Amino acid sequence: MRITERKHVAILSLVLFIICGSLLSGCVRWTDPKVSAAENVEMRKFPYPYRSMVAFASDIDGTTPQEFVQYHRFLNTEEMTPMGQGLGLDVGDSFFIYDATDDTHPHYVDYQKDTAPKVMTFFNGLDIHSKKDADMIAYYWKAGWIDSMHGYGDFNHSNKRQALCTRPYAKAAWDALKEEGISPDIWINHGNEANKQNFGAYSKFGFASYQQGDNPGSPFYHTDLLLHNGVRYVWNSKGDSTFGMNSVLFPIALRDGHKIWGFHRYSADKKIGWTWGPNAIYLQLTDNRLQDLVNKQHLVVIAQHFGGGNGAVPFNKKNADAFRLLASYQRKGDILVARTSRLLHYNRARDFLKYHIVRNGDLVKINIDGIQDPIFGFQHVTVDDVRGITFYVPDPGKASIFIGTKELKASDIVRSPADFTGRKSVGIAWFAPVTYDYTKMAPKG
Ligand SMILES: [Zn+2]
Repeated sequence: MRITERKHVAILSLVLFIICGSLLSGCVRWTDPKVSAAENVEMRKFPYPYRSMVAFASDIDGTTPQEFVQYHRFLNTEEMTPMGQGLGLDVGDSFFIYDATDDTHPHYVDYQKDTAPKVMTFFNGLDIHSKKDADMIAYYWKAGWIDSMHGYGDFNHSNKRQALCTRPYAKAAWDALKEEGISPDIWINHGNEANKQNFGAYSKFGFASYQQGDNPGSPFYHTDLLLHNGVRYVWNSKGDSTFGMNSVLFPIALRDGHKIWGFHRYSADKKIGWTWGPNAIYLQLTDNRLQDLVNKQHLVVIAQHFGGGNGAVPFNKKNADAFRLLASYQRKGDILVARTSRLLHYNRARDFLKYHIVRNGDLVKINIDGIQDPIFGFQHVTVDDVRGITFYVPDPGKASIFIGTKELKASDIVRSPADFTGRKSVGIAWFAPVTYDYTKMAPKG
């Protein structure tokens, strides 16, 4: 071979190497096992061993303090309850601040024929000087059984033009919540067209044309206060019939120029219609649906109204059994049941995590830099912000995880054997289960 030919071969090899390296990073695996160790690091979709995630986002409509206690004892604790042994699931809830509805008669909110004023609300009616269940709401917020606000309250009115939730009520609500240390980052629209404070789905025509919460020119404008007080996720009143998706988040552009995360809630079935009542839980949680969720590795937020029934207990046997079915999926390691805030936080952290890998021989160091949120910008994180984040690694025993420059404690790390894909993993421990019966110490509603 002449020198020029050699040069050509050398250049050609170099070009091929670069193409190979840039297009197919895996191609170096065949030649250098040490490189392969680092390159095999890949994020797992869910914390080990789970393959999917479910949250219930229950609207507090029609829920009395007694009903709230009844169903959370069954869902969250392992105590014996009138509906059977508690399931010990991580299920959150929402709350109302005001009650301004005229929907009192003959609409009963429970089997004792109580009406709307008995529903759990922070204030009595619209009176910001008269607290009703404020202590109870603050207590369960701290306990983790409440994590979402169902608007500012119930402003449903038979006269849909009778809209009352103007900006001063929004302001007073935030002041009161701040005083109690309640800081939800999830807002769920409530109710009919009299709830002009709703937002997130506005269009000039159609069902959402009444929404004024994000219109700076309206007396019902408040989304600036909402964002200022830390709300980051909104359900915009649009029901979904899709049970499970890769991400439940989508960006919403507000009319005041801000942006916020919207999230999908499964709330209706194409054939049956709305399934978000407590008598339709067995229609929401079918074996087929849950298995499909697992197979597709999806997450879902399920809309409900746990306290919306009028039976002697919140869930009859058929519906309690549906929850038992869900609990069995968690027990076998297929579905992680999480309160709505945890699911949304996880969804965002997983999809926008910024991290880099540092390799030293066989050792793999995973450095978490933060979350590059496309709406709210880069965010530094604590361990609680990234719980559940899991990486496939060749050897979990030789992997470590850092947040910034700080290595995570052994108790925050989970090293796991091969899963259904045949790959081992290392991850940040999910939240420890809490099945304590908080009703034992609760202020009475
Ligand atoms: Zn509602």
